[in-house]
Amino acid sequence: MKAVNNNRYFPSDSFLDAFKGLKLGLLLDQIGRSEEGRPIYGLTIGTGRKKVLAWSQMHGNETTTTKALLDLLVYLETTAEGIRLKEGICLRIIFQLNPDGALRYTRLNANNVDLNRDALDQTQGETQLLMQQYESFAPDYCLNLHGQRTIFAAGNTSKPATLSFLAPSADESRSITPARERAMQLIAALVEPFVVSEEWGIGRYDDSFNLNCVGDYFTAKGTPTLLFEAGHFPNDYNRLRSRELIQTALVNVLQSIDSKGFMRFSTEDYHAIPENFNHLRDIEYKNVTIVNNKELTKSSLFVQYAEKLEDGKVCFIPEYVGSQEDWKGLTVVNLMHKNDKNPIDINESSDKIIVMLNLLL
Ligand SMILES: [Zn+2]
Repeated sequence: MKAVNNNRYFPSDSFLDAFKGLKLGLLLDQIGRSEEGRPIYGLTIGTGRKKVLAWSQMHGNETTTTKALLDLLVYLETTAEGIRLKEGICLRIIFQLNPDGALRYTRLNANNVDLNRDALDQTQGETQLLMQQYESFAPDYCLNLHGQRTIFAAGNTSKPATLSFLAPSADESRSITPARERAMQLIAALVEPFVVSEEWGIGRYDDSFNLNCVGDYFTAKGTPTLLFEAGHFPNDYNRLRSRELIQTALVNVLQSIDSKGFMRFSTEDYHAIPENFNHLRDIEYKNVTIVNNKELTKSSLFVQYAEKLEDGKVCFIPEYVGSQEDWKGLTVVNLMHKNDKNPIDINESSDKIIVMLNLLL
């Protein structure tokens, strides 16, 4: 059980290199600066009447959707269907709303504020910038692009929610306002073409209301807003698969907006998407002999990767996180009879438990 290599780190420089590497002839506009003065970039693509505002990486460590947006640009510029779509829609993209957090690989911005809890207060420059863009562009639809941890399952299953969506609430009673209904229809429409399998699924996020979340805020203002979450696919810690799936989901939603295909979907179709359960952990060690205050038993022990930025690389470091009846492992390792005479004391430090588990592999 070693640290997992990955390429999830995607600060502004990496984004600019990747964008230039596309060689699409598109130009970015600098729409403002972060709290620490880093440029924030936007781009408008398409000449259609339906206006869609999308932003990514308001949480700096959620990089997959930014990459999927680059893939979407390629699609819109180089495929016949993409070129056709651009006549129907006008897409305004803000890449990496939180470049300071992207550099640090943190969810929060430079002032340790969660930008997705700042919609009402608007204390941060990045939030104010998003609000200005919203006011000046006056979108018909908003796409709020995020990434989620490995812990989420699609329903009460062991399948990771490789994609999750939410039509956020517009009020405390979670009523289905016209804007929210439209967002639900769009999510049902964009999900329909996907064929999930035994390996992965699509989940629906919790809809408890918080007006400081931008999705709730824009929905309350009457703009249908869709939350996208790029999630885990088995053994794919680089999130290459969810990057592809997010790009497909973006194409699906733009097509549905363009064709009004979402009109044949209902709020029931949306609610048929399984709810997210947060009971997955990266590794489950089954049948481990443990000792807890001198009592000897067998138990499952769970390990979760902590993501740490070291020397410009994000490392996934295994940490012991305990054990709960309802947790399920994404990877399951059976240690039956491997340590009958050598029990693991679960009151030791996480580091020590990890070392002891390593010795059993
Ligand atoms: Zn997020």
